[in-house]
Amino acid sequence: MNNLFIVIALVIGIGIFYAVYHIGQAVGLSRKQENEDKEQHATYLKEILTRDREIQTIRGKLDDLNQLNDRYLSFLVRIPTVVQRLNATLKVEEIILSVIDLITDILPTKIVECYLLDSADNLLKKVSSTEEEEKRAIGEGMVGIAAQQRMIQTREHFNKMHGSKGTGQELDSHLWMAVPIQYKDRLLGVIGIGAISHPVGNEIDLMKMIADIAGVALLNQTMLGEAKHKANTDSLTGLNNRNYLFHMAQNFVEKAIREGTPISLFLFDIDNFKHYNDTNGHDDGDRLLQELSEIVRTVTRKNSVIVRYGGEEFIVMLPGITKEDAFIYAERLREKIALYPFAHRETQPLGYVSISGGVASFPFDGESIYKIIQLADMALYKAKAAGRNRVIMHQPYLFSESETEKDKLMIS
Ligand code: GH3
Ligand code: MG
Ligand code: MG
Repeated sequence: MNNLFIVIALVIGIGIFYAVYHIGQAVGLSRKQENEDKEQHATYLKEILTRDREIQTIRGKLDDLNQLNDRYLSFLVRIPTVVQRLNATLKVEEIILSVIDLITDILPTKIVECYLLDSADNLLKKVSSTEEEEKRAIGEGMVGIAAQQRMIQTREHFNKMHGSKGTGQELDSHLWMAVPIQYKDRLLGVIGIGAISHPVGNEIDLMKMIADIAGVALLNQTMLGEAKHKANTDSLTGLNNRNYLFHMAQNFVEKAIREGTPISLFLFDIDNFKHYNDTNGHDDGDRLLQELSEIVRTVTRKNSVIVRYGGEEFIVMLPGITKEDAFIYAERLREKIALYPFAHRETQPLGYVSISGGVASFPFDGESIYKIIQLADMALYKAKAAGRNRVIMHQPYLFSESETEKDKLMIS
């Protein structure tokens, strides 16, 4: 009985142990599984996050590419219009404004500046709507360095090469890039742009293309300007020629009629110039013409037009000046020339170089500039006949002195 009891107890004990063991195992297994599941879940999450990040990066790259594409596209779409506009316009300022418009449309920057090279003093001058003039010497600041090296300068590259201090470097510290405008080897100007709010990497390429287009347009304009200047200028003296006189006369007459103002004209001729040439040679005669032209320039206002009208005959057209004031001006010029120590002056019949001339005024003396020239020429002829080295004012009426005086007062 006892033994049976022990056996039963053993069986029960083993059964319990077995059951507990298996339950324990089952519980352990399910925990392990749970842990494994958790780990797997975490791995999945990580993968999803990584992929999300990758997708974001690709999206960003796509955005950049789209922007890049947009910029190229908007540049390409504009080219025909811009080229047409650039070639149709005759003014350098308009070309520059078109270029500035193009850049601000394509690149997200707040600053676009343009400097043009002035070949007279070799300085880069900023094209600006404001009065104040900003200049850069070649080699000065980022703008000047871009011009000197004929190479695009970026802020990063520039600072690395030249530091942030030095010869005027601080001048262009607001610029992010300076791009030379050139045609072949000829430097025409520099474009400066400020920081770009979202650079995508094609800024240098775009600026290069824009500078190339601007270069062609500016060169065309410069050559056209030079050709126009040549067509209007006397090559020996650098004064204007007859062409320019009649071109400007048209403008002056329209303005004079509109505003009710006079245009006076002084026509003069060097006295005994043939004698000067015969005595001293043609080359010295040429030099005399050049020096005399320079004197005329120094005593004449900027808005007047000085013309070499013929061999040794000149016209000064004085807009807005009364005949009386033109006469005073002409007398001052005549006196200055008579006193000027020209070479070989003593060999001239009067003992010095002199001029004779006539003064006439529009609309008082005649209804057109042609007529005024004719009348001034008649007065010049009288001055020659009266002994030279003198100026005669055309008198419209052969009435008494007092009546002429009355007429003079009427126009002034
Ligand atoms: P007048 O006082 O009457 O004006 O006498 P003039 O000798 O000045 O006048 P004329 O018309 O007899 O002679 C003008 C001279 O000007 C003749 C011509 O050789 C000279 N001449 C014209 N153009 C030039 C030029 O470009 N260079 C030089 N050296 N001489 C010139
Ligand atoms: Mg003469
Ligand atoms: Mg003459």
